Amino acid sequence: MRHACLILKPGHDRPVRRHHPWIFSGAVAELEGRIEDGEIVDVYSSEREWLARGYLNRRSQIIVRLLTWNPEEAIDESFWERRIDRALAARHLLGLDQITDAYRLVYAENDWIPGLIVDRYGDFLVIQSLTLGIERRKELLVRILAERCHPTGIYERSDLDVRAKEGLPPADGVRHGEMPPERIVIREHGHLFRVDIRHGQKTGFYLDQRENRRRVAPYLAGARVLNAFSYTGAFAVYALAAGAESVVNLDTSAEALAEAAINLQLNGFPASRFENIEGDAFRVLRQFRASGRRFQAVILDPPKFAFAQAHLERAARGYKDINLQALHLIEPGGILVTFSCSGLVSADLFQKIVFAAAEDAGREVQILERLGQAPDHPVRLSFPEGEYLKGLICRVW
Ligand code: SAH
Repeated sequence: MRHACLILKPGHDRPVRRHHPWIFSGAVAELEGRIEDGEIVDVYSSEREWLARGYLNRRSQIIVRLLTWNPEEAIDESFWERRIDRALAARHLLGLDQITDAYRLVYAENDWIPGLIVDRYGDFLVIQSLTLGIERRKELLVRILAERCHPTGIYERSDLDVRAKEGLPPADGVRHGEMPPERIVIREHGHLFRVDIRHGQKTGFYLDQRENRRRVAPYLAGARVLNAFSYTGAFAVYALAAGAESVVNLDTSAEALAEAAINLQLNGFPASRFENIEGDAFRVLRQFRASGRRFQAVILDPPKFAFAQAHLERAARGYKDINLQALHLIEPGGILVTFSCSGLVSADLFQKIVFAAAEDAGREVQILERLGQAPDHPVRLSFPEGEYLKGLICRVW
């Protein structure tokens, strides 16, 4: 099948040859042939050498997302089946079923399916379609997922801002099978969590933190823990299960805190072991300092602060401030667990930010462990943008 041709400007072929999946509109010399946005286009170097094939969207700054570097590979139904099968096989190889029944099945570009996210929660799948190219093929992709995974239902949560850049409105709803119940109870490392896949944050749960919750837990035994940016209390459940004395959950979301209380009770922890505080962490941590309230461990898992390069400096100030406030509250010998999920903040920069906070706080800090995203959120080597979550477990003196 002959596709429209996109010719790159001279000197813009190198990332494509290295299998980076994005072509920015600024790299394009010309687009030959009639083609609708969302359809397949062949990409050529300025010397007219065939390089790769992907789907087009002229409305997006990322004008093409590449799907294959093999000129013989057609983008037909069996292409999408092969890609989904590879993603499913990769999850199977992780042996996740022993650990949890909630994990990411498809992580977009990192699984060579740009624009598609699929998470599994028990018998339900949640999909997020982030691009026009995926939107156009959504029915097919849902059918393939239904055939392969036999879920009770597939629910769409395409309510992300990035869709606007593709000219797409938000979209939510049942795409296959049954409507998910209001709460699905999932298990993770032997703990139970209620997840609201229709209205919860992201697709309902922070699956990317699964291994970090497990690795942090042993450091919290016996500690009075502050779990700042707690969401539905996942770190709190792990902390109490590992023998923490008590946990304070802190979040701006009253709904998330209400769920945290239920999750803690669901796992057998009495209300005397935890406290929920609704408020802005930047403000509440300052109040704790002023009132002399101290902790033996503080967990900081804030939302993404940096959405664009232009905001990086402001984001860095935010990370520094919240880490500074946390350090003030930690008793000598205590633990700071600190995360950043901003892809634009590298692990190296994040460490420097925490160092700057430690200097300002007048505290000595040791790194005990470096943390990243769980292996069901793999980072494709040819797509470093897929790496976003980083964390440090530190001892604070
Ligand atoms: N640690 C959680 C995920 C945290 S997500 C887990 O493992 O499940 C970040 C959380 O920070 C969200 O629940 C959001 O409601 C909350 N949040 C955002 N801004 C905040 C602020 N300024 N103060 C306190 N919480 C905030």
